Amino acid sequence: MKSIKKKNTDIGYLEKGVLSGDRIILAQAITLIESQREEDQINAEELLEKLLPKTGNSIRLGITGVPGVGKSTFIEALGKELTSVKKKVAVLAIDPSSQKTKGSILGDKTRMDELSKDPLAFIRPSAASGSLGGVTSATQDSILLCEAAGFDVVIVETVGVGQSEIAARDMTDFFLLLMLAGAGDELQGIKKGIMEMADGIVITKADGENIKFAKKAQADYQHALHLFGASSSGWIPSVLTASSFTKDGIRETWSMIEDFFTHTEANNFFYQQRTQQDLTAFQRSLEGRIKKYYRVQSRMLLSSIEEKIKQKKLSVRRGSRMIMDELTKNYEKNSDH
Ligand code: GDP
Repeated sequence: MKSIKKKNTDIGYLEKGVLSGDRIILAQAITLIESQREEDQINAEELLEKLLPKTGNSIRLGITGVPGVGKSTFIEALGKELTSVKKKVAVLAIDPSSQKTKGSILGDKTRMDELSKDPLAFIRPSAASGSLGGVTSATQDSILLCEAAGFDVVIVETVGVGQSEIAARDMTDFFLLLMLAGAGDELQGIKKGIMEMADGIVITKADGENIKFAKKAQADYQHALHLFGASSSGWIPSVLTASSFTKDGIRETWSMIEDFFTHTEANNFFYQQRTQQDLTAFQRSLEGRIKKYYRVQSRMLLSSIEEKIKQKKLSVRRGSRMIMDELTKNYEKNSDH
C-alpha cells in the first residue's frame, strides 16, 4: 500500500480524484500546487496540464472589502443561495496578513461555518507564506483545479487593504466590492483605484435601522461610479444593497453577476479577458522565474553591484545591464569598455 505522502504526489491518483469532485483530494492537489519544492512544482505542472481541458467552466468571482464589512457572512449567504439551486461553490481566500502579523486578517474564528458543511461547497484559505506573487499563482491554479473538480462558481476572497486586490482582479471574471454604509469616511480606506476595478458594489448590512443609510450610500456610490464611465467591457457597474441576515439583495447580487456574464459573453469580452489574464499570468510567472534565477546565478555580482549603487559609484541602469550581460554570458566582453 502506498503511503499517504506518496499518494499525495501521485499524479494519476490526484487527477482522478479531482475529476471525480472529491474535496479531500482536491485539497491535496491544491497543497501540491502551493508547494515551493522543485519536485512538487514539476508534478504540479503535469497535473495542471492533464486537467487543463476540463477547466474554464466556472464563473470566477472576486470579492473584496475591508475587515468587518461582512465578507465571510456575505459569501456564506451567497454560497448557500447558489448551493440551494444545486450550484457547486468553491471559496479561495487570499490572506495577505499572515506574514506581517503572524496572524490572520481573515480571522481565526470559524468562518462560513454553515457553508463549510455544505456538500456542494469547498472552502480553502490560501497559505500566505512566501511572496504575494507565489500566493497569486497558486490561487490562480487553484481556480483551475476547482473547475476541473466541477465547481460552477469559484469565489476568490481578498481583504480590501492591499495589493492582493489587483491580483484577484487579474484572475476573476467579475470583481465585487463590498462596502459599508454610513461609516463616515466615504471611501473607507478603499482606494479609488479599487473602486474603479469593480464590476459591482454591494452595500452590506442593509437591514433594520441601517437600511436608510445603505440606500443613501447606494446612491452616492452609484454617482461616484457613474463618473468613471463604462469599462472596456461596455458594462456599467451597478451598486446594490444586501443583508446577509435577512438575505435581501443576495439573489439580486447573483442576478447582477449573471447579467454581466450574459452581456460580456455576447460581446466576447468574457473570453478576451480570460485570454488576457492567462497571458498576464504567464508573464508574471516568467518574471518570477527570471528573478529567482538571477538571484541564485548572480548572487555574488548582485551584492557587489548593490554595494556600488549604495556608494553611488554605479548607476542603477548600468547595474541591471551588468546582471543581464552576465546572464547572457556577454559580461566580460562588455565590462572591458
Ligand atoms: P469580514 O471581516 O468582512 O469577513 O466580516 P464578517 O462577515 O466577519 O462580519 C463582521 C461583522 O458584521 C459580524 O459581527 C457579522 O455578524 C456582522 N454582519 C455581517 N453581515 C451582516 C449583515 O448583513 N447585517 C448585519 N446587521 N450585520 C452583519
